[in-house]
Amino acid sequence: MNQMHVREVHERMPAVETGIGSLWEQLGGAVHASSGVALARDLTVDVAVIGAGYSGLNAAHALIGRGVETVVLDAKTVGWGASGRNGGVVSSKFRPSFPTIARVHGLETARTMHRIAHDGVRVIESVVDEYGLDDACYAHTGNLRCAHTERTFDAIRAEAEWLRQTLGDTSMSVLSREEVTRETGSSAFVGGVLGKDAGTILPLRYVRGLAAGLVRRGVPVWESTPVTKIERDGDRVLLRTPSATVRARQVIVATNAYSNLGAATAPYQQALVPFRSAMIATERLPADLDARLMVERRSYTETRRMMKWFRKVDGRMLFGGRDAFGKEGRTDGLAALQRAMIGLFPDLADVKVEYGWSGYVAMTFSALPQIGRADDRTVFCLGYNGAGVAMASLLGRHAAALALGERPELSLLAADGLKPVPFLALRTPGVRLVAAWYQLLDAVGV
Ligand SMILES: Cc1cc2nc3c(=O)[nH]c(=O)nc-3n(C[C@H](O)[C@H](O)[C@H](O)COP(=O)(O)OP(=O)(O)OC[C@H]3O[C@@H](n4cnc5c(N)ncnc54)[C@H](O)[C@@H]3O)c2cc1C
Repeated sequence: MNQMHVREVHERMPAVETGIGSLWEQLGGAVHASSGVALARDLTVDVAVIGAGYSGLNAAHALIGRGVETVVLDAKTVGWGASGRNGGVVSSKFRPSFPTIARVHGLETARTMHRIAHDGVRVIESVVDEYGLDDACYAHTGNLRCAHTERTFDAIRAEAEWLRQTLGDTSMSVLSREEVTRETGSSAFVGGVLGKDAGTILPLRYVRGLAAGLVRRGVPVWESTPVTKIERDGDRVLLRTPSATVRARQVIVATNAYSNLGAATAPYQQALVPFRSAMIATERLPADLDARLMVERRSYTETRRMMKWFRKVDGRMLFGGRDAFGKEGRTDGLAALQRAMIGLFPDLADVKVEYGWSGYVAMTFSALPQIGRADDRTVFCLGYNGAGVAMASLLGRHAAALALGERPELSLLAADGLKPVPFLALRTPGVRLVAAWYQLLDAVGV
């Protein structure tokens, strides 16, 4: 296997945690007019949004659409969190399958959750449209779920059939082994299910483009501004940052897996199990491989418990997975990803990996995102369980509605207060144990 090619990392780049650069940073994107500037004077606004990722910026978008005076504060830079690091897979599902949701919570709930999941994709489409984010290269490509065993193929086929028959969702189609091999260029899969209502996007360009658009519309987005304390102040709250304060009627906490960047938001981390997720990108593929691999240019996921996903960007193979968990600051998680990629695509054995980076996804105990009120002044949305490109965009908007006293349709995502995960102290060793167990089950093919 070839050595990873280590790049110098731009100072702003999230990937400093791994020491290898991010393709997204290399591809760049619009930087908003006040980029890099910290809040330096006291402000009074209607709503203060903490976190400049998809959740926070979409909340700000919904608020200014209603004429609500809003400010966005981020401890780092726009997209520094997961919104600038992810795979850019725009999906219309939750971790629990819709048949499972129906079995546990009833058919009507499954129907509503299905609608919410697809609403997420619509939000991406509308934001791309409204802000003219052409350079984010959103494409409604569909997602192909590739089965690695006959058993998982049966399961995803049955799920697609249930969706068609029970919910009338005809966007799923079953692909044979030959079809999946032809589409992906990998013979490692026994079949697959194509979900047509899904897409791909360039994640950092999306978040940066949205921030730039908001700034143009008059929403201040302050970077390098960690919120360190939130206090009551009469009928308002007072947010303290290192050099200024913000008084607001309502606060939206949109800090997700990075909530512990500031003392004021650290309690939100207790509702989550942060899980490290990593990505690699190869050099540009030689023409023959480019013509053979992922010919439809969709996003691709597989059915292993420790799921891998892949897509083609910029003529490169992009490959992601959870192998970097527990390997902070090290590159061996990335080497494990490279091995997994070559396992599925032996043709890539001699192709150089040029980029590698990682970030935290926020898992929740229920495996579902949560949105609700922490108190009468504070709304939060978090816990996208690794599928937040569309869902964080949608829930950011719903968080804005909650802050304005409205009641958006939230179904199972509605959280009645912030609930720390049970056995909090055990969550890191617990996740490590579960990850190892899943890796073992995947390895023996059950
Ligand atoms: C490697 C990786 C791959 C992924 N791939 C996919 C994918 O392909 N498809 C998909 O749907 N999802 C994916 N996800 C998940 C998705 O990226 C997230 O769910 C989504 O970006 C969450 O957005 P957010 O705005 O809620 O949080 P974030 O983007 O993490 O933003 C939170 C922000 O809050 C700021 N912050 C934190 N605390 C404070 C504070 N006290 N004061 C001020 N600011 C603060 C941080 O600096 C950060 O910018 C992936 C995630 C990772 C890490």
